Amino acid sequence: MPTTNSYLVSRMQAFGSTIFATMSELATRTGAINLGQGFPNFDGPEQIKKAAIRAIEEGHNQYPPGLGIPALREAIAQHQKTFYNLAYDPETEILVTAGATEAITASLLALVEPRDEVIVFEPFYDSYHAAIVLAHGETIPVPLRQPDWSIDFDYMESIISSRTRVVLVNSPHNPTGKVFTKQELGAIAELCIKHDLIAITDEVYEHLVFEGSHISLAQMPGMRERTIVISSAAKTFSLTGWKIGWLCAPRELTQAARTTKQFLTYVNGAPFQEAIAFALQSGNKFTSLITPQLEDPRRQLTTSLGEIGLKVCSNSGTYFLVTDISTITDEDSMTFCLELPQRIGVVAVPMEVFYKTPGSGRNLVRWAFCKTPNVIDQATQRLSQLKL
Ligand code: PMP
Ligand code: GLN
Repeated sequence: MPTTNSYLVSRMQAFGSTIFATMSELATRTGAINLGQGFPNFDGPEQIKKAAIRAIEEGHNQYPPGLGIPALREAIAQHQKTFYNLAYDPETEILVTAGATEAITASLLALVEPRDEVIVFEPFYDSYHAAIVLAHGETIPVPLRQPDWSIDFDYMESIISSRTRVVLVNSPHNPTGKVFTKQELGAIAELCIKHDLIAITDEVYEHLVFEGSHISLAQMPGMRERTIVISSAAKTFSLTGWKIGWLCAPRELTQAARTTKQFLTYVNGAPFQEAIAFALQSGNKFTSLITPQLEDPRRQLTTSLGEIGLKVCSNSGTYFLVTDISTITDEDSMTFCLELPQRIGVVAVPMEVFYKTPGSGRNLVRWAFCKTPNVIDQATQRLSQLKL
């Protein structure tokens, strides 16, 4: 949401406060059910929480090493090997960050020169454009086209210029819930290799796939050596407030991101790093919990949105469903979402904030289903008031 602030540098004026902060604040103020900001209304596994408490009690409370604690870097390397058969050296190719957000920002600040172009698939997660602007780069959108959020690769190639530096991929994709296919990742890889581009891939929803399966972009032939893979404990372990993220990349790319990261937070979350190391060391014991837990809420919300006459767009992963609201209203999604809490006591997110292209996403709304079934039940009852 843009603000006017005479102190704020001009290139950040358009950003104001994030839609997630705005909508969560609206939910708190109105007492509405918050299906806006993507965070679960339940905590991750007790054993992981206990590991953090133990780490505090055992004295892991001072600055951890700049790259992250060795146990966590080793556990991340093991995770990448187990799930994707990708080998990373924990000494030189892994960097622990303050959430995926910092990994994304540090990578872009490290790689993007002023006016360099970064290709992003639109709609896109809000921090991407902000981080590109912080780096003085240019965001170049490639549309994900409805109904199945497909990509026109001829168009994508046509916008690659001598200034294009990075392709920023996000799969499973927020806000659409799209899980990129092997063919799509292969086509992206081909363009990156042909035009000598670096890929940054945000895979924070890697363990939240309901249909199909997640493939890392770095698994595509020729990509490991030109890709920064980013993930986070937030969504996998339902611990969004801990802000433990990481990146895996070849040595020189890791070093580049580390240089900028040092001056953003330096390091963070010593005891939480210990606990996430414990969680990742347990194979798939904890990583396998979240998808089954959200299957019912996802199904229930899909049904309830359909019953009120909204068209639910195709989706396979993440926390989110996107609907076309034009079947029930002439309003744009921002107006609709700002009125919804007063009208029926539910908060959702207008999709137009995930687009840079003016006028796009005005008929689309994002709904988060990362909630316990009782909350989804209540939301369902409230949503039924929208039935025509
Ligand atoms: N990328 C995407 C696509 C997200 O949805 C989010 C929100 N969790 C993030 C990055 C930020 O992750 P973190 O909370 O670990 O910084
Ligand atoms: N990733 C969350 C979402 O898309 C929001 C996280 C945040 O508020 N930064 O809803």
